[in-house]
Amino acid sequence: MKTISLIGSTGSIGTQTLDVCRKHNIKVKALAAKSNVKLLAEQAHEFSAEYVCIYDEDKYRELKILMSDTGAEIACGMDGLCKAAELDGIDLFVNSVVGMVGLLPTLKAVEAGNDVALANKETLVAGGAIVMKAARDKNVNIYPIDSEHSAIFQCLQGNSRKQLRKIILTASGGPFFGKTKAELRNVTVEQALDHPNWSMGSKITIDSATLMNKGLEFIEAKWLFDVSPDNIEIVVNRESVLHSAVEYDDHSVIAQLGTPDMKIPIQYALLYPQRLECDVKPLSLTDYGTLTFYKPDLETFDCLSSCIEAIKRGGAYPCIVNGVNEEAVRLFLERKIPFLKIGELVKESLSHFKPSEINTYSDVTDADKAAREFVLRRV
Ligand code: MN
Repeated sequence: MKTISLIGSTGSIGTQTLDVCRKHNIKVKALAAKSNVKLLAEQAHEFSAEYVCIYDEDKYRELKILMSDTGAEIACGMDGLCKAAELDGIDLFVNSVVGMVGLLPTLKAVEAGNDVALANKETLVAGGAIVMKAARDKNVNIYPIDSEHSAIFQCLQGNSRKQLRKIILTASGGPFFGKTKAELRNVTVEQALDHPNWSMGSKITIDSATLMNKGLEFIEAKWLFDVSPDNIEIVVNRESVLHSAVEYDDHSVIAQLGTPDMKIPIQYALLYPQRLECDVKPLSLTDYGTLTFYKPDLETFDCLSSCIEAIKRGGAYPCIVNGVNEEAVRLFLERKIPFLKIGELVKESLSHFKPSEINTYSDVTDADKAAREFVLRRV
């Protein structure tokens, strides 16, 4: 049986990852969470974790007390997350933290030779160049957890990568599909947090409303599958049933379909290449009757068009749009900027920043810091 180390264990992907571990008797050697120390301690007891880390250093003492009846090693902060990534004796490091904080642990896991199941988008968006190079050098596998990238990964099985012509990355269109900019001017936090098909954490739900999420996924797809941005097409599937597809040189298109439930991609990443029973509602195509497809609206959704432009330009631009967005979403959730301002800031950053290269981890953190400062100067 497999043994994993999981960071981000109390979030949406993290708790569903543990559901999969429960069902398939996967051993959880290490657990880490941002600040929910009570749930983390509960999980650690249930899975008899040997290593438990809380990112928020102020909660370290509380975690130590909650875990005092066990022999588990207790850690905190970024160093603690990195150690969870580098652990010996694990088959897979599962990274489901939200935001840039996920990049360094991914790099540490790869450098230690641990395979990675990746739900953290920022890892590849901001650090794709260095992470993929390190993964190739260390012969480490990166298994995508995101539903779209899992779908693409599944469609690539048993076929020649050389004959891959195009990736068809699907999008739900989000809660504001079909709306104009004028109609989006007064969108509230509550409206933006109400997603029609997927239930997710607040950062990614806002990113789904602005379509930034699809932009980040576009960038991730380029890095994960080594395709040119010109060979990635975004298609809106309103039902979120077709999770993405690939086209080969013979123009055969292979898609992965399923009920919109993250358990399927999580379980595929954890059990790859096995396909065991999964606790989700089976897909009934006749219950849906119709699947609808549209082109994405690149005029209204500045975040999406800016991400495509950023990865075409390359260098630090993907990292910059990501940093700007992360900061802008935080400000929107704090009700300090309006909804459309998120996209305006992301778009503006492309003309503000001069081209620069990403060769090292500090190049990434420098670009990210500059991006965040750019936002704070403008609000
Ligand atoms: Mn996705």
